[in-house]
Parts: sequence; C-alpha cells; structure tokens
Amino acid sequence: MLIGIDDTDSPQGMCTTYLGAVLVRRLIREHMQVKEARLVRLNPNVTWKTRGNAAVMFDVEGDPGRAFEISCALVEELADFSCENTNPGVVVVDRQIDPAFYQKAVTDFCTTEEAVALLDVAGARYKGWKNRRGLIGATAAVASELADKTSEILVYRVPSAFGTPRSVDRESLFAAEAATFPHTWDTVDPVNDVVVCVPHTPDPVLFGIRGESPQWVMAARQQIRSEKTGIEQIWVTNQGTDAHLLPGTCGHLAGNLSYYVHGTVASAPETKEGGHVSFAIQDGGFSVRCMAYEPTKNFRQLIRQLVPGDKVVAVGSFKKESINLEKIRIVSLARPAITRPPLCSACNKRMTSDGRGKGYKCKKCDARTLEPDTQEIVRMLEPGWYEVPPTSRRHLAKPLCRGEPGW
Ligand code: ATP
Repeated sequence: MLIGIDDTDSPQGMCTTYLGAVLVRRLIREHMQVKEARLVRLNPNVTWKTRGNAAVMFDVEGDPGRAFEISCALVEELADFSCENTNPGVVVVDRQIDPAFYQKAVTDFCTTEEAVALLDVAGARYKGWKNRRGLIGATAAVASELADKTSEILVYRVPSAFGTPRSVDRESLFAAEAATFPHTWDTVDPVNDVVVCVPHTPDPVLFGIRGESPQWVMAARQQIRSEKTGIEQIWVTNQGTDAHLLPGTCGHLAGNLSYYVHGTVASAPETKEGGHVSFAIQDGGFSVRCMAYEPTKNFRQLIRQLVPGDKVVAVGSFKKESINLEKIRIVSLARPAITRPPLCSACNKRMTSDGRGKGYKCKKCDARTLEPDTQEIVRMLEPGWYEVPPTSRRHLAKPLCRGEPGW
C-alpha cells in the first residue's frame, strides 16, 4: 500500500516529515515493512504552504485498514490543529494513483475536488481535516513518479528540545561538505560562509543533508557533531531535480508557475532599491522582466554583467510579471562596441564629428574620414550555466553540481 500525508504543521511548530518519521516507527512496531519513505516537494508558489510545500509518502507492506487507523491517530496526536492554515490529509491506497496528478501538483495548481475524485475512483481510504486541503498534497504524494530522485537525511531533535536554540557544530558542517561535495550539497554555502542545512524555525528538524544517495548523505551525516539527536530518517525525494519547471516562451507565461525561457537580453540590468537586480529579455516580439533578488547575493554580480543582445535561458518562477531567477544559461554573448572620433592619420590628433552622418574632421589639418574609431568592449563573462548560491536555492531547483540542464 501507499500512504500519503500532508499539511500537519504550522509556523509555530511540527513538520510533516517528522510526523512521517514517527509514523514509520509506529508501522514497524506493528510488524509492517516500510519499503520507502518519500518526501515530495510540490509547486513552490502555493501561497498557503507553511514552508517548503512538502508532502510525504510511504510504500508499506501490511494491513491497509490498520495503517490508516495508525496514520489518522498520529495526525490527531501531532498535527498543529490550532493554526488556521493547517488542514491535514491522510490517504491510503493499494497502488499508485495517476502520476498526472503529481505532475500537476508539482508544476501547477490542483483542487481538493480533483484529489477526492481520483481517490474515490481508486477506492482509497482517506480522511481530510478542517478544509481538507491536505488531501491535495497527500494524493500527489501517492501519485508521485520520480523520473529523477535524490536523498535527504533529516535528523530531528529530541522532543524536549523543540523550540529551543539549536546547537550544531559549524566546523563539522563545513568539513562534511568539503568531504562529500558534489555528492552532497547545500549543507553550507562556502562562498558566503553560511550554514544552510540547520533551520531557524521552531520545528523538530535539527539539520538535513541532501545528496545523491542514502550512502552519501549518511557519509556526510556521520561527520556532524551536534546536541543530542532524536530520530533520523533517510528520505527519497524530488528535491534538486527541477521537477517544477515547464518550458515557457516570453509573452505566454502564467503566474505562479515555474519555467525555463529562451530570450535575448533587451535592457541593461538595473539595481533597484534593496539591491534587487532587474533586466528584460525578449523573444518573438514579447518581453519579460527577470529578477535577481538581494538574497541571491553574488549571483547578482553575474547578472549585472549582462548587456542587451546576450542570448540567455532564464529559469525560475513567474510571479508578479517577473521571472525570479533560480539559474541562468548564457547561451551567447553580444559583442558590444564603443565608437568615438578616430585619430587623424596625418597629425595623430583626435578628430571631431563633422555632423550627423558626415564623418569626422581634423581641426588641425582639415583631413576627413567617414570611419569612427570602434573598440569592442571586453566581456568578462563566459557562456554557460550560473546559479543562485545555496543560501537562496529552492528545494526543487537542481544544483549545477548534479549536471547542467539540456535546454
Ligand atoms: P509541511 O511541513 O506541513 O509539509 P508545507 O510548507 O509543506 O509544510 P503545508 O502546510 O503542507 O506546507 O501546506 C501546503 C498546502 O498546499 C497543503 O494543504 C497541500 O495539500 C496544498 N498544495 C500543495 N500543492 C498544491 C498545488 N499544486 N495546488 C493546490 N494546493 C496544493
């Protein structure tokens, strides 16, 4: 059977993955076999999410009726029902639901009615609390088919420590990253000297290590020194896979979906108030604004070097009429040049313009020429892929250390 759960937490505490990790232990205690624990991230632009729009799924051998009872009881025990935005959903099905629903949930928006219709057709056991919105994520989780997958080990705190400041040895995090990158990533951001894998929210997670396989995340985890730890769970995930991206074209982008879009830089990047950098790309007579926000730190230095005529692929979510860049490919660089009056070939003095379209004249010897002095501006950029730093990477964005996209 597959068990899907979503929407059990609030900004004040809890985390659906923690509830899932506790569930795994309760199922095992009942002699069920948990074959996979999966953490799926869904459309990152859903505004009613608590944090990272995650849902969990478990592939389990055992009695579905009993598993449903245990899952629902655990949601009632641990979910933060006090928060208006916490609307849990639990689903148990005997086989995978149509993966098209997962595809839609990770790239677009779904309704509770769509989820319930699929669950009814599948003969699923399901329960939604309050407005039942969690059934969307729970259904997407049991519909998920991962073309590409990564691992994450989540190390949770002992319950008595929930809500208190975390203690994780900073040096050991940098050492773990150094020893295992690029097979693990986003433990720390070495360029910006920031720890990335330890949350600051009052949830049960102490830290999480992302990587290519259970072995790699485990290898990094074993190097990390910290406060006393509680339970730990290795998850199969769609994180770091770009599963949220759709092919898009300028002028045809829908709000709150995420795209990769080919275009030519149409306006020079400008730094706005707050340090956010903005420029436009165009294609087929349409233009679209691209943004590199302040939290993308050094990525903005790269963006500021773009000039009109550069061909790029802009990647990110289209929100409020802008593509919020997650990464960018510089396909080809324009060759901008500056022109100025040439030096006189007779007396080596700088000539002056003789009027628009009339060429240049030497004031000293009256020599004339039509050709200006043209100098190509040296570009420091190289074509290729560039990405935001780990501190501002979204869960679903595929880090370049995993390979460059083919578009
Ligand atoms: P948690 O740690 O609990 O998973 P979260 O940040 O993942 O926190 P949720 O509390 O799960 O956020 O809230 C997300 C809500 O949005 C859930 O009710 C989920 O069912 C719903 N949801 C997820 N994806 C979509 C989608 N594509 N369309 C509509 N609703 C969605």
